[in-house]
Amino acid sequence: MADYKALIAQLTAVAATPGKSVAAVIKETGKEAFGCFPLHTPEELVYAAGYIPVGMWGGRTEIKLADKYLQGFCCTIIKANIEMGLNGTYKDLKGVIIPCICDTLKCVSEDWIYACPQIPVIPIAYPMQRKIDGAIEYMVEEFRHVQAKLEEISGRKITDEQIEAAFAIYEDYRQAMREFVEVAADYPLTIDAKTRHLIIKAAYFMDKAKYTAIVKDIIAELKQLPKEEAKIKVVVSGLVSEPVEVLDILTENGIAIVADDLSQASRKFRTPARAEGTALEKMAGIIADQKGDTFLYEPEKYKGSMLIDQYKAKKADGIIYFQMKFCDPEEFDFPIVKKEMEEAGIPLLYLEVDQQIDSFEQLRTRIQSFAEIL
Ligand code: SF4
Repeated sequence: MADYKALIAQLTAVAATPGKSVAAVIKETGKEAFGCFPLHTPEELVYAAGYIPVGMWGGRTEIKLADKYLQGFCCTIIKANIEMGLNGTYKDLKGVIIPCICDTLKCVSEDWIYACPQIPVIPIAYPMQRKIDGAIEYMVEEFRHVQAKLEEISGRKITDEQIEAAFAIYEDYRQAMREFVEVAADYPLTIDAKTRHLIIKAAYFMDKAKYTAIVKDIIAELKQLPKEEAKIKVVVSGLVSEPVEVLDILTENGIAIVADDLSQASRKFRTPARAEGTALEKMAGIIADQKGDTFLYEPEKYKGSMLIDQYKAKKADGIIYFQMKFCDPEEFDFPIVKKEMEEAGIPLLYLEVDQQIDSFEQLRTRIQSFAEIL
């Protein structure tokens, strides 16, 4: 069995250098890359089409060109994506899929056509009433539309067998990740906040089958080690837990992440697929069955109670809410979550972040104070 430290280093390096990692996977597999904007992008179809799906979750870059297309109050993830589309960083992508999940993304699927006409875009819409039978039918139709567009761009037919095979690889990935986040909670010193984040993020820049095999090896090796205890344990919520410098500050203050409710992490893999149906119906079922996800309409608002359950199950000391600046859906949820945490007597830290921050002192002070209170 491989050395777990080397495997962890391999994955963290992949996530830390996405451009290099995608170039390496293209060279290794001979496949081309296809961009997947957040959130809930049907990556299985991209994989079935013979492409490497690449996660487009923004990144550190100077915003110079994107402002021509986007308002000042647009979130930095999307600004960075448009900027990198314009400055040539994404020149090797054969296309991008943009789910129209929030007001910004609805506009961006149109902006992209003008900003980056050389890279074809496939928009996809999800229904608000996602749990009714008609919604499943609608989502399957949307997936078929994405499939047809991928066929048009690639010039290759995608068979149902290829979709089933891709779905099985993604199910294996989701299952492995559900186990990984559980096991990682028992090793908060080895898998500190940044390491946890980078391991999970590496999946966006690798072939999923290869990535899953490495994660399974890491899980098996970790389980052989004696369990570890963190000084302070937290559950985190939000879109992403970036920039990574913030995670270093958590570790400096003895804070470990023992569970998450993040779009870039557990929301991506926490919902099991239904037993019955075709791969496309199961993909729609995952969207329909997802609970507590800010970006999927839910009148019952389960998010707060789910956070409380995670907090209790992991015997955590508090909850950190990573609020991406200008991310309206998360902002709308916060007052509800705050009230529920106050009623439950759970310490809550609200951190407003964006990917282009270059001074961390204010965040450092707030995290230090939170650690001292806990
Ligand atoms: S508003 Fe939120 S969900 Fe929408 S693009 Fe911005 S960060 Fe993403």
